[in-house]
Parts: sequence; structure tokens; C-alpha cells
Amino acid sequence: MNIFDKFKNLTESLKKTKESLAQKIGSIFTGGGLPPDYMEKLEEALVLSDISFQTASDIINSVKKDIPGAGSITSGEFKGFLKREIKKMISKEFPPLNIDDKKGIILIVGVNGVGKTTTVAKLGNFYKNKGKKVIVGACDTFRAAAQEQLAIWGERTGIEVVSGKENQDPASVAHDAVQKLKEKDFDLLIIDTAGRLHNKKHLMEELAKIKRVIMKANSTPPDETFIIIDASLGQNSITQAAQFRELVDITGVIITKMDGSARGGIAIDVIHKLGLPVRFIGTGEKPENISDFSPEIFVEGLL
Ligand code: GDP
Repeated sequence: MNIFDKFKNLTESLKKTKESLAQKIGSIFTGGGLPPDYMEKLEEALVLSDISFQTASDIINSVKKDIPGAGSITSGEFKGFLKREIKKMISKEFPPLNIDDKKGIILIVGVNGVGKTTTVAKLGNFYKNKGKKVIVGACDTFRAAAQEQLAIWGERTGIEVVSGKENQDPASVAHDAVQKLKEKDFDLLIIDTAGRLHNKKHLMEELAKIKRVIMKANSTPPDETFIIIDASLGQNSITQAAQFRELVDITGVIITKMDGSARGGIAIDVIHKLGLPVRFIGTGEKPENISDFSPEIFVEGLL
């Protein structure tokens, strides 16, 4: 995907958030210039875009420093300050993605329904288009539907899927998938896992066992562990990410359904509040609807 397509894909998915935020920021200026109570109005606009109170107040405190005085700036200048401060806030230095030429493993976690299976397939397709030979491990053996769905996506995208029988030990499917990655001509293994967060102890044991199996078969832990969260769940998805973090070492976040939601502000909280990198954004239901994340393009799309 060239830089223009990447820009278009990500910014278009943010259209709903942008429309909602732009309208709220525009309404701050209805009386002409910047009113004296602009901070409360800005806080409301940010919080209604699903940015937490804490992050909204951090944004306001940094924007405040730029404002020469109420009434004296235009809405365009105001937006410019806002863009600059949010960009600064989310341009933290994160290590580059740990998926290089060697045989890499990405572990995918997240609650069912957030778009996990679709994202595993889209991510596989993304790396396949970059020239990698991808294989998927369907380790959510609890849900027959998850296995079937991945098999269908595998056929659509031409990616091999290693599945197990219903209720087979997920770690044994992970073992088979890692063996295939090692023995055959594959570059990247993406492992889907179950998302039954309501049974935390069981899920923690299951994920720990999958990781042990990977360590044993590959001598290293997964190169990346991504949690999938759904933009339309707003701040609840931040809570989900925080809960998963107690179970497993998360190295990055993928936010799905950005295209259908006006709650794109959660990406700011993932980076600022959780201190985790956003690695990809789901921008629709087709295999190609995934975009790698760029703070610059995100802020341009947001405001
Ligand atoms: P899982 O239960 O977490 O594995 O979720 P699925 O992968 O089955 O996805 C649930 C629904 O969300 C499906 O209808 C997907 O097509 C849809 N979905 C997933 N990602 C996206 C996205 O980025 N945008 C949109 N609009 N829909 C998505």
C-alpha cells in the first residue's frame, strides 16, 4: 500500500469520529472567538469522543500553554494547537515491530466479538502482501465457529491454517503450528486464542500454556503479543486491554471497527494512558481493510 492509500484508508475510517469532534469543537466558537469557558467545552468534546477525563485534561493543560488569550484566536488556529499537542502526546518512541526476516510469531488475544478472527486473517493478508509466507494457528478450539471462520478466511486469502478438533487442547494446536513454521517454508505464524475473559484463571492458564509450548518448540517467546480491541466499545475496550495485560505481556494493540465508530479517541488513551503502541487499525470488513498506525496520519484524520 503506498503512502497515499494508507492515508486515505486510515483517515476515511476516522470520518465518524472527525465529524463528531469537528462539530463539537466548532460549537465552542459559535459566539465568534474563543469563549472564556472554552476549557470545559473542549473537555466535553474530547470526552464525548471517548477520550478519558485524565487524558482530556492532559491535552487541555498542554493546549492552554499555546493560547494567547480567550477570544484572540480562530477556530482554525485552535485546531492547529490541538493537533500539535495530540500528535506530541501519541508520538512516543516505541520499539519498532519485532517482525523481521526470521521466523516470527505473533500471538493474538482479545475478547470474542471484537473482530479477533477477522483481524488474524487481515493481518495475515497484510504480511502476505509484504511478501511473507504466513501460516495461522487456530487455537480457539472452544468455539467451532472460530475454527471454521478462520478456515474460510484462509481459503479467501490463500493462507494455510492449522486447526484442531473442537475442545482439543489449544496448546497442542499451537505446538503443531510452531512445528510447521519451523519445518516448512514459512516466515510468520499468527496464533489466534480464545477470549473468554469472564473465566480469568482458566484463560490465564491457557495463555501461559500456549506461551510455554511456543518457548519449548521455538526457544523464544512470541515476538509480539497483540490485543484486539473494538473502537465501538469506547472506554470499555481500554478496560479490556488493561485486564488482559494482567494475564499476558501485551506488546501492542490493534483497534478494530474504527470505520463504524465515532469513538476513535480511544487510540489516544491506548498510547497515553496504557503506554502501549497502537500497531494497526481495522478499517472495514474486507481482507485488505487494515492499516498500520501512524500518529501523524491519525491526527490529520481526527481533526
Ligand atoms: P471475534 O469473535 O472477535 O473473532 O470477531 P469476528 O472476527 O467474528 O468479527 C465480528 C464482526 O466484526 C464481524 O461481522 C466482522 O466482519 C466485524 N469486523 C471485524 N473487524 C472489523 C472492522 O475493522 N470494521 C468493521 N466495520 N467490521 C469489522
